[in-house]
Amino acid sequence: MTTQTQPMVLLKGIRKHFGSHEVLKGIDLTVERGKIVSIIGPSGSGKSTLLRSINMLEPPNAGEIWLNGELVNQPLTGRAYETHINAVRQKMGKVFQQFNLFPHLTALQNLTIGPIKLKGVSPAEAKVQAMELLAKVGLADKADAYPARLSGGQKQRVAIARALAMRPQVMLFDEATSALDPELVDEVNLVMKQLAAEQMTMLIVTHEMNFAAEVSDWVLFMEDGLVVEQGPPEQVLKNPVMARTQSFLRKHL
Ligand code: ADP
Ligand code: MG
Repeated sequence: MTTQTQPMVLLKGIRKHFGSHEVLKGIDLTVERGKIVSIIGPSGSGKSTLLRSINMLEPPNAGEIWLNGELVNQPLTGRAYETHINAVRQKMGKVFQQFNLFPHLTALQNLTIGPIKLKGVSPAEAKVQAMELLAKVGLADKADAYPARLSGGQKQRVAIARALAMRPQVMLFDEATSALDPELVDEVNLVMKQLAAEQMTMLIVTHEMNFAAEVSDWVLFMEDGLVVEQGPPEQVLKNPVMARTQSFLRKHL
């Protein structure tokens, strides 16, 4: 089995419930290597839960999650479970709406701590790689700044660089720009577009339809725990077939 032909992410019949509330009702998705998939849909439709299921922050109750040919939600327990989950999580970078940088660490240290502590990279090597990543997101001059001294857009760019420092196979973005002042959104979107151009595989939950139209290879419209419609952005965003997609887009464009 060659890994080159595997989808990077494959979801089969993902279900998740909290008590009696079924939040994901059977989600199927294939994300090929280097592709960008955007997930849109009303608040409460299950978008965040889906991303949190993929990296096992909310393990699904049913279905399969495959990452590059490896089953993510294996029926393991105890130490074996922890080891497996930590390993797969390292392969998935995640950027949240809230800036969740370590406040007591500088921008540079935020990037180096993961590779040093979790991957055994030497501090010197981690620093070289972190400086490259900070330069890539336009923040080389902020290496020694603490998060409190950074703007929201800068914090989010550090968060992206920190995720990249772990050399993930896929990046998961959950409304990465929705807590930002409008004038700071573009600088973060630019970094995401740059990653897209470099063929990073990305799943992007967003409420910015224009951004989704620009970067996505594929768009998924979710409502009430189900995929209502999916397809290329020209179809789902410009020419939706389903009445519920049309109605959502009328409110969000
Ligand atoms: P979205 O990101 O599309 O707004 P979410 O995935 O955050 O939607 O939430 C989907 C539904 O699941 C909502 O009704 C939410 O209240 C519920 N939910 C999400 N997380 C939990 C949880 N940990 N416990 C109970 N209910 C939850
Ligand atoms: Mg959400």
